[in-house]
Amino acid sequence: NEGMANPKEKTFSFVVVGGGIAGVTCVEQLASQIPSADVALITAGPHIKAVTNYKQVSKLLEEFDVEECPSSVLEEKFHNLTVIHSAVKSLHTQSHTVETADGCVFGYEKLCICSGGRPKLLTQDNPNVLGIRDTDSAQEFQKRLSKAKRIVVVGNGGIALELVYEVEGCEVVWAIKDKAIGNTFFDAGAAQFLIPLLEADKPERASPCKRPRYTTEESAPSCGSGPTEAGSALGPDWHEGIVLRGAEQVSHRVLLQYQCEVEKIFTSEELLNSPQQTVGPENGSWPIYVQLTNGNTFGCDFVVSATGVVPNTEPFLHSNKFALADDGGLQVDDHMMTSEQDVYAAGDVCTACWEHSPLWQQMRLWTQARQMGWYAGRCMVAHLLSEPIELDFCFELFSHITKFFSYKVVLLGKFNGQGLGPNHELLVRCTKGQEYVKVVLSGGRMVGAVLIGETDLEETFENLILNQMDLTPYGEELLNPNIDIEDYFD
Ligand SMILES: Cc1cc2nc3c(=O)[nH]c(=O)nc-3n(C[C@H](O)[C@H](O)[C@H](O)COP(=O)(O)OP(=O)(O)OC[C@H]3O[C@@H](n4cnc5c(N)ncnc54)[C@H](O)[C@@H]3O)c2cc1C
Repeated sequence: NEGMANPKEKTFSFVVVGGGIAGVTCVEQLASQIPSADVALITAGPHIKAVTNYKQVSKLLEEFDVEECPSSVLEEKFHNLTVIHSAVKSLHTQSHTVETADGCVFGYEKLCICSGGRPKLLTQDNPNVLGIRDTDSAQEFQKRLSKAKRIVVVGNGGIALELVYEVEGCEVVWAIKDKAIGNTFFDAGAAQFLIPLLEADKPERASPCKRPRYTTEESAPSCGSGPTEAGSALGPDWHEGIVLRGAEQVSHRVLLQYQCEVEKIFTSEELLNSPQQTVGPENGSWPIYVQLTNGNTFGCDFVVSATGVVPNTEPFLHSNKFALADDGGLQVDDHMMTSEQDVYAAGDVCTACWEHSPLWQQMRLWTQARQMGWYAGRCMVAHLLSEPIELDFCFELFSHITKFFSYKVVLLGKFNGQGLGPNHELLVRCTKGQEYVKVVLSGGRMVGAVLIGETDLEETFENLILNQMDLTPYGEELLNPNIDIEDYFD
């Protein structure tokens, strides 16, 4: 029906695109704040992500579980909400409309884009190069792993870190571009604390995972495939529900390759056809080979590309001139507004471009997706009602709780000295196998901390960072394990 205008199905006060944590949290705000407003959630995947068991650990640290559930759960809760299962194909900011893949057009007064991101793949067209993003890709990974003897993992963020630790029964070659593992989250000291765990047998899990496991239901039919129709990103404990075991009997066998990147990827045929390439006695027997910039070449069953995410912006860019950040995200200001009128964005798809608090930085994490979705919803409501709104307190101080290698990990502020240059000092306390505590000081004031293990220091340190007290008089006593620091500062 070329040339025929699509029927405009309906105009909503608010339209939110994306059923991940950012989109769902935004929709919950909108639908509950203005019960008389019509709200639509348009999402490509069959399920939505819901935050459950939300717990405020301290002023800023929060913990929660994430459940994948059918969208009817949301619609039952909010009678002013309509969930539309289709991918947005294009956005027309002039006419304030979005068009979906199934040909429907929806109008909006205010729109929030929460379409997340997708894994940055080393190469798009090699079936032996996998990315992990959603439940489907995690299952595909598990299936492939069960038959694998060796895999190569590329990347040094949270996903690679957990993956390398969790995989058993398969040799893992881990290629990282930094000098230390987990560079996104830690420094070399913390890496040293964790490395012995990569070599040791893993302890039996004492108790089952506290968090609900990700469901592995069949995807709903008619969702198609392709980058824009993927489901939402997995979150904490994504590997808990699935067994990550390869075809061999070994427990952990990790071969670390530091300070290198992938130079070239080739198939066994390509290897056999280029006589100058040799990889030892196993020449040609693997389905895929990875040549690293350090000169080493490894054959393996498949490669996991865990080098970060690319914001899902394409469908929105065709007929609009969004300001994009260097990382490809939609630029948002301190009201989560993009450069296009009445269009907001939150979560992995956006890049926070306001002047950040000196103690905050954006990281594409679960917690920030929730905070941004929540705040974007508040801003959209405030703007509709012409009420003032200020940047939320949660953007004052970066805070994140997670788990690496079964240890509790708390990250606060400029935990890695980010952007501080040489003008900072570190205090470290480490008990092998038990805890690692690092404090970042700048001008005698605490600006960041890494806490690994059950340190019980998070609340005190959060306060010390927030109140910017001069800690010079305390010197190294600050980390003296024999002093109850909480009493000290009371
Ligand atoms: C394997 C893995 C492990 C992770 N582990 C952690 C962790 O331990 N801790 C942590 O904090 N973070 C972790 N993260 C990051 C975290 O999952 C993300 O930061 C977070 O989920 C982002 O939420 P979001 O709502 O912005 O995007 P997403 O969760 O990606 O949701 C995007 C939604 O948009 C929909 N969508 C996309 N395009 C369109 C379109 N064109 N039209 C309609 N709908 C569309 C998708 O279907 C999806 O529902 C992990 C990520 C991965 C992949």
